[in-house]
Amino acid sequence: MSETVETPRTVTPVRVSRKPGPGERPRGVPEGARTACIRTFGCQMNVHDSDRMRRMILEAGYAEVQSYEEADLVILNTCYVRENAVDRVRGHLGELNRLRREGRVKKVALTGCIGASAESSQLQRQYGIDLVLGTHNTYELAEFVGLPTMRETYTPDLPGTEGEHSAFVTIMTGCNYQCSYCIVPTVRGRMVCRPMRNVLEEVEQLVESGTSYVTLLGQTVDAWRHDGKRFCDLLERVADAAPRVWFTTSHPSNMEDRTLRLIGDRETIVKRLHLPVQSGSDRMLRIMHRGYKAERYRRKIEVFREAVPDGTLSTDIIVGHPGETEEDHEQTLKLVKDCGFDSAYIFKFSPREGTEAAELGDSVPADVVQRRFLEVLRAVEQNAFTRNQCKVRSVEEIYVRHGSTEDGKAIGETWSGHAVHVRTDARPGEYVKARIESAGPHVLYAGEPIT
Ligand code: SAM
Ligand code: SF4
Repeated sequence: MSETVETPRTVTPVRVSRKPGPGERPRGVPEGARTACIRTFGCQMNVHDSDRMRRMILEAGYAEVQSYEEADLVILNTCYVRENAVDRVRGHLGELNRLRREGRVKKVALTGCIGASAESSQLQRQYGIDLVLGTHNTYELAEFVGLPTMRETYTPDLPGTEGEHSAFVTIMTGCNYQCSYCIVPTVRGRMVCRPMRNVLEEVEQLVESGTSYVTLLGQTVDAWRHDGKRFCDLLERVADAAPRVWFTTSHPSNMEDRTLRLIGDRETIVKRLHLPVQSGSDRMLRIMHRGYKAERYRRKIEVFREAVPDGTLSTDIIVGHPGETEEDHEQTLKLVKDCGFDSAYIFKFSPREGTEAAELGDSVPADVVQRRFLEVLRAVEQNAFTRNQCKVRSVEEIYVRHGSTEDGKAIGETWSGHAVHVRTDARPGEYVKARIESAGPHVLYAGEPIT
């Protein structure tokens, strides 16, 4: 669950050629219609929560717009995992205050993980925010935008996205781990697993309405349990129901070998595993309360590589956690080389108030953190570059995720989970076959589609 996004996604986009002046209607918005802009920060869970809020505002008769200047209501759906995410949101809140004074924006709502944190009341006072909602009471937005009050329900039961080529389906919320550095259990609460029947019903509805790619979401999806069933059972059923399936994020302590084998066996499952390791040092893994040793992680990767030889593997790594020594860092570098990651999200430790690590002291100096960060990054990129080079000249079936931009290239994904730039005007959700012509550390480049 690590991809960082800051993106306005649209269900019914309203395009304007220029920003309107104060009091002016954005072009394309019906007379009298109210407008709303949703800005999302953070991981896929937040993108999905924004999708739910989008459905509420559209149902309430708002038109969705792309810029703050055009919006009556601005919703900032936020991330609290690292301090720089909060700094970015503060910057946006400052700009929104200015637009409010100029009479452009009328109301501002702060939702998501910052909304669930203790810091939210101080932000509300400082920036005069109209509505603050955490991740557990997103449903209260309904009343705020003029819809009937919603029955209190845990978030996954709120409707998600429908009718798009690709959709997220939440299978669990919260997390039962207590990793030393992590604020997620505080802002998202303990794990709640959604019943299999509900998940399958949502997947079936999505597929019926045209969705061809379903991503199962949760902080530790592989910890999913319900009525004696485990994650592997759920994944198997979803893989029967949807044409293309992926899942994120998994926890190494919960990852079962049979799930890894299922990825290799089932044609509809994208052969990409995201398994955050955080550190290669057993000492650090213990301090972090991760619940596994590096050797156990390595064994999981061996099973994955054997079961899914063509698969891709990504991870999350934290550098500079309090107490991390040079020896610990060397062990992380060794693990990176041994596992041959195809990509990694590397984070500099960010102290979060209320977490154990924030109180630990023994912090790593910033210049050391920066050096270690670059060393891990270089090691990952070298591996990734070498592995990606092996794909050059192969012919791949590519799922188009984002349609072509002005340079005529679309962004797609292979069945092994590689990101590919491909010259095609195929639409999102369609497949093209193309030969890989070159490769960098992060992406493959394909030629014209082969008919
Ligand atoms: N549940 C997932 C897991 O256990 O792997 C991760 C969820 S967390 C939102 C995404 C990533 O953010 C983590 O894997 C970790 O690498 C990083 N992260 C979380 N807290 C952090 C902190 N305080 N400082 C730096 N990175 C952090
Ligand atoms: Fe945070 Fe650890 Fe839970 Fe992941 S498993 S969300 S890192 S507490």
